Amino acid sequence: SSASTPIRATLFPGDGIGPEISESVKQIFKAADVPIEWEEHYVGTEIDPRTQSFLTWESLESVRQNRVGLKGPMATPIGKGHRSLNLTLRKELNLYANVRPCYSLPGYKTRYDNVNLITIRENTEGEYSGLEHQVVRGVVESLKIITRQASLRVAEYAFHYAKAHGRERVSAIHKANIMQKTDGLFLKCCREVANKYPEITYEEVVIDNCCMMLVKNPALFDVLVMPNLYGDIISDLCAGLVGGLGLTPSCNIGEGGIALAEAVHGSAPDIAGKNLANPTALLLSSVTMLRHLDLHDKASQIQNAILDTIAEGKYRTADLGGSSKTTEFTNAIIDHL
Ligand code: NAD
Repeated sequence: SSASTPIRATLFPGDGIGPEISESVKQIFKAADVPIEWEEHYVGTEIDPRTQSFLTWESLESVRQNRVGLKGPMATPIGKGHRSLNLTLRKELNLYANVRPCYSLPGYKTRYDNVNLITIRENTEGEYSGLEHQVVRGVVESLKIITRQASLRVAEYAFHYAKAHGRERVSAIHKANIMQKTDGLFLKCCREVANKYPEITYEEVVIDNCCMMLVKNPALFDVLVMPNLYGDIISDLCAGLVGGLGLTPSCNIGEGGIALAEAVHGSAPDIAGKNLANPTALLLSSVTMLRHLDLHDKASQIQNAILDTIAEGKYRTADLGGSSKTTEFTNAIIDHL
């Protein structure tokens, strides 16, 4: 972490509130003297035939080379003949696991004050791939593909993560009572990996029961691992437990150690361009990026400044019941660094 050679990282400011919250990250990194040099990439205005999406090949190459990046939310333009931007990133960069920490923020009261869980979402297959077609008029079909390879890979990551972070339990979330073949294979792979980690308690929870348990007592869970679509839904539920989408970070892990951090939320078109967005989720995502780079001092410095600002309660954005603008909240964090 010497100041002499900055680390290059790709930054996708993204759409909607993306540029506003990215600006907040850039300012705070600058104020904290973080040795990161951003390489900014914007989503193209035309479809790049090499990616079949609005994301350019050069953007993907930037992440491949830097191996680390931060992305704002991307709104996929509606229309035919191209792939979703997020799906393109996940597929092309093989971002196979999405890690979403979710914990209660000290000083910010919600119905729960003891949330401390991690959801780990398989990121490449399942219903979420959107492999759909019309069979005949009035009848459509969606393909849910689950492979042993992808299931083992995400299960390995979940147990590795649990062990590395001193966590005690991994819960596999599923609907294998109905989706016997697909979720059944996912569970079988989780069990195989669990056998290699006898020090970590392993359990299997049906997703409907999991939802009930989460809202009743989130402290029942530690690390949760699950197929793609379930992860999409459960992680938003978890965000709601601690104060909403403005707060929860995530990091996508790819093969060969690529890490692309991003907030869980979308482009929030209802508040875009109004200086109202809460930058916390993207900021905490940038903190996960710093930790991935082993820049732990800078990561802690920034994380503590964010948590202190929220706990103090003087400057909070509207989603947390305050009246601060994005820029006012950002300046308050800089004062707390
Ligand atoms: P959204 O997350 O953008 O918004 C849901 C609600 O949460 C809105 O009321 C919004 O104002 C609020 N919100 C979200 N982030 C906030 C923040 N940082 N501060 C304050 N309030 C915040 O979900 P949506 O409306 O369903 O999706 C909008 C667009 O975003 C869609 O085009 C969707 O495809 C895209 N999207 C992208 C990603 C991504 O890039 N990873 C994720 C989800 C949705």
